[in-house]
Amino acid sequence: MDSLSEICSSASNCRDCDLHFSRKRVVCGAGPSEARIMIIGEAPGSAEDEKGIPFVGRSGKLLDSVLKSVGMQRDQIYITNSVKCRPKLGMTPKRNEIKTCAGYLEMELSAVSPMLVVPMGNSALTSLGFILKRKFDRISEIVGKVIETDGFFIFPQFHPAAILRNPKRKEYFQEYFKMAKELLDDLGDLSRDEIISKYRVARP
Ligand code: SF4
Repeated sequence: MDSLSEICSSASNCRDCDLHFSRKRVVCGAGPSEARIMIIGEAPGSAEDEKGIPFVGRSGKLLDSVLKSVGMQRDQIYITNSVKCRPKLGMTPKRNEIKTCAGYLEMELSAVSPMLVVPMGNSALTSLGFILKRKFDRISEIVGKVIETDGFFIFPQFHPAAILRNPKRKEYFQEYFKMAKELLDDLGDLSRDEIISKYRVARP
């Protein structure tokens, strides 16, 4: 298994999809290798592209404030994106770009081995779908539902950029992270069957 630094070093030289044309810097995931929770966003924005760090722009600031409000500490979370290079301004990553980059996310999942994965938005769900060979419903259909996999539980959440576009949803965004925190705490205390029963977990 590759370490996170090896995965990042490999991504830093990657030209496997067209997104390498639009990036300034490859934005690797960030956070501790022993994190119990992994958050997956869509793609780096301009601030991330400049600094080479995920979630440092407006979406990152919103995410930080909501995590803090529910008692979650960012330095205990591994945060990454479905693609590691910034698409052209205003574009979302294409399906084939997400598929090409999913190999890096798969390696990150293997290196961190989180108990809980929070995909924020459809691109993150699409990437997980490629890795797990499953098709997920759109985020608006499954947001806030707990999904079981062989290795970890999935808790889909809106992307903070969607909340910035529609601030009325901020309350839900915060509420879902509150649920994610409770679920994470329970994952340390309850058995798998108790989690499945308490959270009415969707089975494949
Ligand atoms: S987005 Fe991923 S696959 Fe595409 S060039 Fe960047 S690191 Fe490589």
